[in-house]
Amino acid sequence: MQGIRDRVLVTGGAGFIGSHLCDRLIEAGHEVICVDNFYSSDKTNIQHLLGNPRFELIRHDVTFPLYLEVDRIYHLACPASPIHYQRDPVQTTKTAVHGSINMLGLAKRTGARILLASTSEVYGDPTVHPQTEDYWGNVNPIGPRACYDEGKRAAETLFFDYRRQHQLDIKVVRIFNTYGPRMHPQDGRVVSNFIVSALTGKPLTIYGDGSQTRSFCYVDDLVNGLMKMMESGDDVQGPINLGNPGEFTIAELAREVIAAVGEDPGIDYFPLPQDDPMQRQPDITRAREILGWEPKVPLADGLRPTIDQLRGRVAEAAQGR
Ligand code: NAD
Ligand code: UDP
Repeated sequence: MQGIRDRVLVTGGAGFIGSHLCDRLIEAGHEVICVDNFYSSDKTNIQHLLGNPRFELIRHDVTFPLYLEVDRIYHLACPASPIHYQRDPVQTTKTAVHGSINMLGLAKRTGARILLASTSEVYGDPTVHPQTEDYWGNVNPIGPRACYDEGKRAAETLFFDYRRQHQLDIKVVRIFNTYGPRMHPQDGRVVSNFIVSALTGKPLTIYGDGSQTRSFCYVDDLVNGLMKMMESGDDVQGPINLGNPGEFTIAELAREVIAAVGEDPGIDYFPLPQDDPMQRQPDITRAREILGWEPKVPLADGLRPTIDQLRGRVAEAAQGR
């Protein structure tokens, strides 16, 4: 039952997106239970919430069952950066599959509504552009990205099978590249890598020739979309793409970051990683029509607060804090 104050579980709540979501749910008056095993995060992003009586932190690995009483589950737990999800690929698949089974089991027992943070990676290296939700994707099932891509595809399958078999109240969103404050300086994704390089005077690292494209969504916009999806009508299950359709080559992103930081340490080129998608841009027609959602923050505006925050983190690291 949804009340004015829900008990909301956020798995992966200490991570980049999860911590912003926890903030917004607390602001909205809910009780928030953040579950995280700190695989790709630490307590920094949620430190400010630890004293709040409506916030609770549980260190827990979602590949193991969890017994709680909750009304809503945002299931975000999963490393999202290629360097993190490829560090322990078997654990990544377990997190995506066992983690989803455990959270769906929790939703089944409690009757909670459950939202899956899926990904544009389910489209793989897409042959359809921009990507619509009815495109089935082009994923290498045995490559180095498969633990994440196939893991999330299996998670989507589980969500829809729990719906068909057990009538669960599910919501599935496919998140496209998201950036913003609280990305870890060593996160490894392109936006934070470029910013940290520019701030520390090291050449930006472009993989390949920089002609591959991505579409970058500011985290506040994304969190709005997650919350709108969670509170959408009973007939809405998704999948729904959430992302910013503004498409940039990686070389263009490098130029934007250099301009925004105001330092140009040059660019070093490295080989393109295996199976790195060549283009990615969300078709957000469904999000617009069904959720009344679209992103508001252009890349240049979103980069500023991201740079400010990473500047602070880089300075702390330099002082050994
Ligand atoms: P993140 O790495 O900052 O956050 C993920 C969080 O999940 C971390 O705090 C990590 O410690 C936690 N976690 C990982 N495995 C766990 C486990 N077994 N048990 C409990 N906690 C675990 O990444 P993010 O960018 O905040 O991504 C959050 C979610 O959004 C992920 O599910 C990711 O797949 C999805 N997503 C993100 C993006 C993006 O661009 N940021 C794009 C597509 C999808
Ligand atoms: N990339 C890059 N330099 C970096 C990090 C990433 O050129 O320092 C490239 C990467 O090869 C990919 C794009 O930027 O083509 C986005 O990479 P990211 O890891 O951020 O996300 P994903 O590939 O999962 O979309």
